[in-house]
Amino acid sequence: MRALVLSFSIAAVVHGTSDAQRSPTLGGADRIRITEAFCLVDTLGDRLWPGGSSAPFAVLLITPDRGFLVRHPKPTPDFVPIGGDALLGAPMWSRPRRFDVGLLASLPAVGEEPTIVIGQPEDTAAKTSTRRVLTLVHEHFHRLRYSRPDYYPGVNRLGLARGGRQGRWMLNYPFPYGKPEVQAQFARMCALLDEAIRQKRLSRPEMPAWRRASALRPTGCHAGLKACTTLNARERRGSAD
Ligand SMILES: [Zn+2]
Repeated sequence: MRALVLSFSIAAVVHGTSDAQRSPTLGGADRIRITEAFCLVDTLGDRLWPGGSSAPFAVLLITPDRGFLVRHPKPTPDFVPIGGDALLGAPMWSRPRRFDVGLLASLPAVGEEPTIVIGQPEDTAAKTSTRRVLTLVHEHFHRLRYSRPDYYPGVNRLGLARGGRQGRWMLNYPFPYGKPEVQAQFARMCALLDEAIRQKRLSRPEMPAWRRASALRPTGCHAGLKACTTLNARERRGSAD
């Protein structure tokens, strides 16, 4: 595994302009997690949600010095191309960091295109492999909603932005998360949703989602799955390397 991660890290060494050459490499472990999230959505996206794989899965990874962009359809001119990444299966770009290193959200971070902006594990709440992969998939779901024609008109009709732009107001909105009645209603909603899913499973027994995902994976996803499973096992053992 060490050899695998090392080879990924070497592959991620940045080439290009002198500016890019000074930038740090994109860590091998996080490239594995991002690849895993891409594979999950590419493989299961339309089964999890109609049109789930139709929206671009653009990710901007924030390191202390730079932002690394992947799978973005229209990078802005401030990004420097740093070559294709064999593991991620896509070209990458980088620019000096602009966003907070702890950010974890989907927003029009690069031009008008909604992009998933995610800091490194040590700077965000998504520190473990499973949490990071599922967080990326969760953020992609926001991305999918943004791409629907009714989304922004519907949000504007709510009249909650109070002058905020680009959806950032949602991140800071003073929602009463701490109110006991809100928490009770949310718990009730979760219980009902859980029950609905349970009933659907009982009426239509199926192969577990993870097994379907594994069976459906394109060949290129298997290396990512194996590497991600190894990362998960290492994290359960509490090893930091
Ligand atoms: Zn969310």
